[in-house]
Amino acid sequence: MGSIGEQYRGRLAGKNAIITGAAGGIGLETTILFLREGASVLMTDISDAALAKAVAKAKELAPHMPGKVDTMRCDVSKESDVQAIVEHLDSWGGVDVMFNNAGIMHGDDDDAIATPEKIWDLTQNINVKGVWFGSKHAILSLRKHKKSRASIINTASVVALVGSATPQLAYTASKGAVLAMTRELAIVHAKEGFRFNSLCPAPLNTPLLQDWLGDDREKRMRREIHFPTGRFGEAIELAQAALFLASDESSFVNGTDFVVDGGMTKAYVTPQ
Ligand code: NAD
Repeated sequence: MGSIGEQYRGRLAGKNAIITGAAGGIGLETTILFLREGASVLMTDISDAALAKAVAKAKELAPHMPGKVDTMRCDVSKESDVQAIVEHLDSWGGVDVMFNNAGIMHGDDDDAIATPEKIWDLTQNINVKGVWFGSKHAILSLRKHKKSRASIINTASVVALVGSATPQLAYTASKGAVLAMTRELAIVHAKEGFRFNSLCPAPLNTPLLQDWLGDDREKRMRREIHFPTGRFGEAIELAQAALFLASDESSFVNGTDFVVDGGMTKAYVTPQ
């Protein structure tokens, strides 16, 4: 960050970031914020069409950014795709911030009895293996480019911390795995200067959840009753947390379960 009198360059000035699932709710808001704060961003997503729309929006909302923005299709459950996006940044000087944000919550995910095995496998492949591949190739790139500091942010969820009576067992298990994996990565790579933190969002106002809830008032209230603030979180509120974890302001924050939930996981009863 520039001192008084210097031109403000942004909290991520000079950093190269990769965001997976960048066409979605959190991914797009984070892209825009990272660009405004001076980073160069590679937006990646499984959907080419969604990426094209998202990058147009990012350019519209962060028009005078000093960094560059590029897009690349990537299915995070395929290692060759993940390797390709990370190696794409070789010509930029390598990755500094890896935001393993892509994730799914499938409509057929249910309880222990009703969850189909193929939905279980699909969910683990994207939500867990995708984060492993993203972390692995980020580490390889950081070593190749001889970086001594970096931030890897892995998206878990509050359901990694508290059980949900509205079952989504494959999703819950996958996010628990992200949390545990991230803690271990944080410790193993701490002396290299590579920080790993998990983001734990509460239910948000993004397509992932809102498309699934639709106009089902009862399903919606089943959740809203548990929010101390009385509302869903917004993607920008997660983007702000990701910005802090990505920046050097969080240089001593490592291995944390960074909970962004309006107090939900700390509530016994909620205000009326
Ligand atoms: P979203 O559905 O708006 O966006 C997710 C993006 O990931 C989409 O653009 C989608 O195309 C992409 N994607 C799906 N499968 C992919 C794959 N195999 N490879 C690459 N990209 C893929 O979701 P969001 O709300 O922005 O969620 C982002 C992350 O936050 C997810 O990991 C999600 O589990 C987590 N999260 C969300 C909530 C919530 O309530 N929305 C709560 C807790 C955690």
